[in-house]
Amino acid sequence: MSVVMKFGGSSVADADCMRQVATLVERALPEAPLVVLSAMGKTTDALFRAARAAVAGQLELARREAQSVAARHLDAARGLFDGQPPEELEAALAQRFDELDRIFQGLALLGELSPRSMDAIAARGELLSTTLFAAYFRARSPASAWFDAREVVRTDSSHGAAQPRAELLRALVRSKLAPLLGPGRAVVTQGYIGADESGATTTLGRGGSDWSASLFGAALGVREVQIWTDVEGVYTADPRLAARAEPIAELSFAEAAELAAFGAKVLHPATIQPAVEADIPVTVRHTLRPAGRFTTIRGASRGARAVTAIAMRGPVHVLTVTSSRMLAQAGFLARLFEVFRERGVSVDLVATAEVSVSLTVEADAPLDELVAAITPFARCDVARERAIVAVVGERLRDTPGVSAAALTALASFHVEMLSMGANEINLSVVLERSAAPAALAALHARFFESAS
Ligand code: ASP
Ligand code: MG
Repeated sequence: MSVVMKFGGSSVADADCMRQVATLVERALPEAPLVVLSAMGKTTDALFRAARAAVAGQLELARREAQSVAARHLDAARGLFDGQPPEELEAALAQRFDELDRIFQGLALLGELSPRSMDAIAARGELLSTTLFAAYFRARSPASAWFDAREVVRTDSSHGAAQPRAELLRALVRSKLAPLLGPGRAVVTQGYIGADESGATTTLGRGGSDWSASLFGAALGVREVQIWTDVEGVYTADPRLAARAEPIAELSFAEAAELAAFGAKVLHPATIQPAVEADIPVTVRHTLRPAGRFTTIRGASRGARAVTAIAMRGPVHVLTVTSSRMLAQAGFLARLFEVFRERGVSVDLVATAEVSVSLTVEADAPLDELVAAITPFARCDVARERAIVAVVGERLRDTPGVSAAALTALASFHVEMLSMGANEINLSVVLERSAAPAALAALHARFFESAS
């Protein structure tokens, strides 16, 4: 049973970071690690900028961007090899930069940048970071190897947002990659990139390396997928709003999804779904504090507390729709929600009273249009600049007293709306946006900072 170790851009940003990664991988060698790397921090952005500049005819600008990318890699190579990188490595890097330069010349000449070309360019970031790291790591562990993810990550041809072909990918991983893994050696490969049926390079979309890691992990049936980054996991609240927020030890997939919907700095749940579905735990760990705390995400939570985290989102608008005949009228709610459906506006929270319904919509919703559509059959009042604060926890539903405790903690706040999520793992309140940070802090204090 192997382990997947994925390191993000900030974890491979320079020579010192790469040394630290090598130390962690070395420790894991007995576990036959598959190392999945992102591009060195900021590289992908620079490649996108360079390609856009080139296609706009600004070849010099493109070259400057490309040179900064090259300099970053060559600096790291020198740092890793005490000033003297092996000739083959320098040659390999130089060759990739030459190719890149020719591509940019071509773009400037043609004035055309297809998604397919963009993928070929963006993929260079991961190809470079892994080439560099593998060369360094092999100096420490000669049995280890570099592997081209495009040999196994088979996707459709939606360049820029390619969808993995799960069955093919699994079969290819098992036949081509699995045999290379073994105790005492690491295989180093790229996140984010793949290839379609014709062999053209594709990418899974920005930030796609987490997805790659979880796809590899699921196909291989590893013990654990480790996402190494620059935080000690997912926190009980945004530490900028609650100073005593701490990493959550255990998180369920549903909770992670809920927190992501609230914009918490957490993995995009879709990216870890393949691993979670295969029953493989995904951990989020801090590359520079490997002995520190971390978060484990699983299909079902094994956590003991009712409340897992407090999250906040805003601004949102609240629409309060009042109709004195509402209850008498069959189909009133259906008619109301049709207004939103027709305009593709998603309604987030809903709370109903006898003659009114309150609901929240995102700040960018077409308010005037909505109001105009509702007014013919009901009164519609709008409250802007509101925010949602949510108490999230998979065990909320079977823990009595959580709502009472939450409302007591919020006694001095003016709560305008209260709603239990349909999935029953969040209890949300709506307040004035300016009051929301303090409300979050009060809830965090109540559920995480009191001796209980
Ligand atoms: N390098 C890619 C990006 O910056 C993929 C990743 O880092 O996950 O989006
Ligand atoms: Mg990332």
